[in-house]
Amino acid sequence: MSFEQFSLDRRIATAIKTVGYTTPTPIQQQAIPHALAGHDVLGLAQTGTGKTAAFLLPILQRLTKGPQRRVRALIIAPTRELAEQIHQMSVDLNQNTRGRSVTVYGGVSKARQITALRRGAEIVVACPGRLLDLLNNGNIDLSQVEVLVLDEADRMCDMGFLPDIRRILKTLPAQRQTLFFAATMPKDILRLADQILNDPVTVQIGIIAPVETVSHALYPIPHKLKKQLLMATLQQTEMGRVLIFTRTKHRARNLARDLDKRGYRASALQGNMSQNQRNRAINGFRDGKYDVLVATDIASRGIDISEITHVINFDIPDTVDAYIHRIGRTGRAHQTGAAYTFASEENGAMVREIEKVLGTQIERRRLPDFNYGDFVPEKQFQHSTRNQPRRKRSRRSAAQRSRRAPGGRRRTHAPTRKAA
Ligand code: AMP
Repeated sequence: MSFEQFSLDRRIATAIKTVGYTTPTPIQQQAIPHALAGHDVLGLAQTGTGKTAAFLLPILQRLTKGPQRRVRALIIAPTRELAEQIHQMSVDLNQNTRGRSVTVYGGVSKARQITALRRGAEIVVACPGRLLDLLNNGNIDLSQVEVLVLDEADRMCDMGFLPDIRRILKTLPAQRQTLFFAATMPKDILRLADQILNDPVTVQIGIIAPVETVSHALYPIPHKLKKQLLMATLQQTEMGRVLIFTRTKHRARNLARDLDKRGYRASALQGNMSQNQRNRAINGFRDGKYDVLVATDIASRGIDISEITHVINFDIPDTVDAYIHRIGRTGRAHQTGAAYTFASEENGAMVREIEKVLGTQIERRRLPDFNYGDFVPEKQFQHSTRNQPRRKRSRRSAAQRSRRAPGGRRRTHAPTRKAA
């Protein structure tokens, strides 16, 4: 299977090669032919499956013909980070063709976005709030939109954007193509999809089943020992880039600060940071300035950074969906990764929920040479998963696991002293 099967414009095919994609991912194989044929698509796929290119390539193909200097494709995403990543991928894949992409989201200068729109753009990648603001003030004309993409629609619903989206929908031509992507399908989202899609083709990749290339491990630990366990884990385990999740913004900030004090190249990514600070954290993590990023769920949405070797759930997430989204940050696009979850006694119900979705028991681990005191990790979470549907275990052997991490960056996380 190659991208040639889609008969894309030669210039787009060249850009795909330049970006380094050789084989379409399953969601691309399934969705692209239908999207190219002009059908509406309901894509059930999480981040990390290659869904962005699945909707961008057909859009870019469409833009090789027809009018310019008017908004012909509108892509709505829940967060600024995700909007930026979609925009960046659009610029990369569009490098040999026409079609300008503009981002529209809050927290940054409105005037600059308005100027960019006035100059003429065929693709707008937007977050709902700022888009609605520009619409209300007549700064953007969506009357010529031919393709609408709703990306991570379920997350937008979680974040309370549904009313905004409905308002935006009213300003779009009824005659259009709609590509609708979500990782999960709660009732609200199902209803929205039902209302706005016209005879859609459904493509489904690993709905609720997290990426197969991730190995999962559970570390039972009392809450008060979590920080020590984290430090010991980082020291004992060979890791590349590590993404750590906490439940609160304060904890993300404090933990990043503690790690920094101990000599790790670490940054926080949480909602109390300004957009510029967040961009610096994400870019620093992507460019290798930081090895460790400590994030909250919302702030980390859609982070597209390959080569994250480990996701550590310092705090277990509140929902199974959040677990899947978190671990979707590692093991991306044919690479392998590991997801460690620290769980204290009161997290039993959530552990069971997650295992029900995984269809298997998560491997329990005790960190060697760690002083657990009176606590016996082996006695925790002994529930049975016997009645749950079992999926084939794709766990890799210890030998496989110890192979070189993706990207070849392999090191034990003994603190890397920062350059003076
Ligand atoms: P997405 O699910 O769109 O966020 O994509 C996840 C990651 O996979 C991104 O880093 C993409 O650049 C990468 N990717 C997308 N399509 C391909 C492909 N066909 N081959 C290799 N990597 C890809």
